[in-house]
Order: sequence, then C-alpha cells, then structure tokens
Amino acid sequence: MSVKQISTNMLRGWIDGLLLQKTVIGPVQHQGHFRFESITSSDQLALDYDVTDLPPKKFLLPPREVMMTFRSSGEFQSVMEFHPFVLFGVHPYDMIAINQMDRVFSEKLVDIHYLTRRNACSIVALDPVAVAPHNFSGCMGTATVEKGWDLLLTPLPQDGYLLEIGTEKGNTLLHSIYELPDASLDQLQLREQRWNQNQKSMRRHELKCAPDDLPDLLEQNYDHPLWQEKSSQCLSCGACNIVCPTCYCFDIQDEVDWSLETGVRCRAWDGCLLRDFAEVAGGHNFRKQSAERYRHRFYRKASYLPKRFGEIACVGCGRCISACIPNISNPVEVYNQLVGE
Ligand code: SF4
Ligand code: SF4
Repeated sequence: MSVKQISTNMLRGWIDGLLLQKTVIGPVQHQGHFRFESITSSDQLALDYDVTDLPPKKFLLPPREVMMTFRSSGEFQSVMEFHPFVLFGVHPYDMIAINQMDRVFSEKLVDIHYLTRRNACSIVALDPVAVAPHNFSGCMGTATVEKGWDLLLTPLPQDGYLLEIGTEKGNTLLHSIYELPDASLDQLQLREQRWNQNQKSMRRHELKCAPDDLPDLLEQNYDHPLWQEKSSQCLSCGACNIVCPTCYCFDIQDEVDWSLETGVRCRAWDGCLLRDFAEVAGGHNFRKQSAERYRHRFYRKASYLPKRFGEIACVGCGRCISACIPNISNPVEVYNQLVGE
C-alpha cells in the first residue's frame, strides 16, 4: 500500500494534465443534479457531489451499443470500442457495483465487449463528503471500498486529499506529477475517521436486519401479500432498473437498413420491471403480472445473485427510491416490512 498526500491545487493541475492525453469522465453539476460526463477542465468537477442521477456504469455498459455490423450476404464484423479513459470520482457504493459487474461479465460467460471497455478504463475512486437523501450504503457495508479502483482519493478536513495507489495502472496515471509526499500517521488516522464517519452517516434508511440475512428472509416470504399490495401502484416504468448501478440486463436487437442489405446488431439496457421483459416467442410472458415483476427485482438482488456470487446486489445508493414516482421501490422499506412480520 502506498498512500500519498496531494493538495487541491495540485490535484486539479494533475487532472488538467491528464486531459491532454485521455478522456476524463467525472461528476458535473447541472441545475442541482449531478451526472458523470466527459470534462474539458478540472474546474467542471463537482468533487463534493452526493449522488449522480445515473451511475457511472453507463460508460462501461452503454445504454445502447453496436456490437456487430452485418450484410445480407452473410459477412459480419465485430465492433469493439477501445478508447482509454479515466472514470474520476467514483463513490465506494458505485465502485462495488462495478466490481460486481466485472464478475458477471467475466465469470462463466466472458463478455468481450464489456471487458475491452473495462480494461481501457482507469478508475479514481473518491470517498464522499456529502450523503445523498436516500443513501443507505452504510447498512449494506458499501460506504467504503477496498478494491477495484486504481487510485483512491479521500478528502482531508482542511485542504487536499490522501491518494492511495491501488494498481500499476494507477501508478502510471500519476507519472506526470512530481514525487508526492507520503501521508503522515495523523493523516492516515483522519482517513480512518472519514471511513468510520461515512459508515455511520450513510444510513438515511436503517435496515432492521443484516444484509446476509436477506436471502433467508426472502425465501420465507415468496407469497407474502406485500408483493401484491406494493405493486398495485407500480407503473411498470422500469426507472428503478435504469438508475440502478447493479442492474445489467440487456436486450439484443438487429436493425436492418431500408435496402435490406446491411444492418447492425445492438444491445440496449432492459429492465425486469418492464412488461415485455420476460416475454418470449409465441407471446408467452413468464412474469405477466406486475406483482411478479416487482417481486422478481428484490429476489434477483437479495437472493438469486447472492447465491451465485456471495454478495447482495444492492449497494444502497438510493437512486431507485428517488426515481420511483409512486414511492414503492425503497428496498429498505420492503425488507423491514418482511422483518417486522
Ligand atoms: S436497488 Fe436501489 S438502492 Fe440498491 S443499488 Fe439498485 S438503485 Fe441503488
Ligand atoms: S420505478 Fe417504481 S413505478 Fe417504476 S417500475 Fe420501478 S417500482 Fe414500478
């Protein structure tokens, strides 16, 4: 482990230097909301953001991407994106979601499109200083993150940051700046305090059980009336899926041009709350009822994926809570209601 100290001015100068060589994507403020986007100057970065509307996964798994072009004669060509870029300012809960996606797309079925983009990406994680209105990552054990990032920035109380180098890729990113001083023991303690504080404060909703208990809790409540009650207000809009950093389902579509000679194969985000998500050939729908789709989302996150990967696929970002118009998608409310029975 190598932890350095860096002043805010030097950090900004370093980012501006990086921009001469690479695309840098970071949190930018727009009318009170934050979103990850490509920047042209370090001044645009809002490093004190609480949460972005969409998670940074959109740069690793784009909402729509062309995977292949083809001709009616049978020729085809894979389309692989390879533009080195830096994802800057990724909060711990989003980093953990990316770590989960890395496993999904590399274990068993290897997704070369995702992995090519992921390998081209360097990640600078950032410990938050502001808590979003619905964040409960402290309850999910995702308010801090130990791995996945190339560099980790922790703001210091006065000025500047501690900068931990996690990988060789991270080390290479730093090559353009002069030797940085090592963090002092006092500063390392301040970092511990920041982590402890974030684990305590990032709990806008308090889960009444341990995350590890969720798979058993769900197993006992498959036929609970809550699924019907809550889903009776569901608009099947899919917003809770779209904003979620751990949702990765997609649809594959072939788009043929008017000449019927050439076309492209695309993949686009899909969501299990949408009516046609589980519809198959012949018109059969495996989850026709809104209650079935609503319930599936919670089982997917806290039962099916944990059984496969050993981790709850909800990092407590709270985005689904903000995005749901009828206010029925709060995972903590659902789990606490089941615990309370
Ligand atoms: S389920 Fe909701 S709180 Fe959990 S990771 Fe997805 S969007 Fe965030
Ligand atoms: S955001 Fe709310 S209303 Fe929309 S699909 Fe999800 S649970 Fe239903």
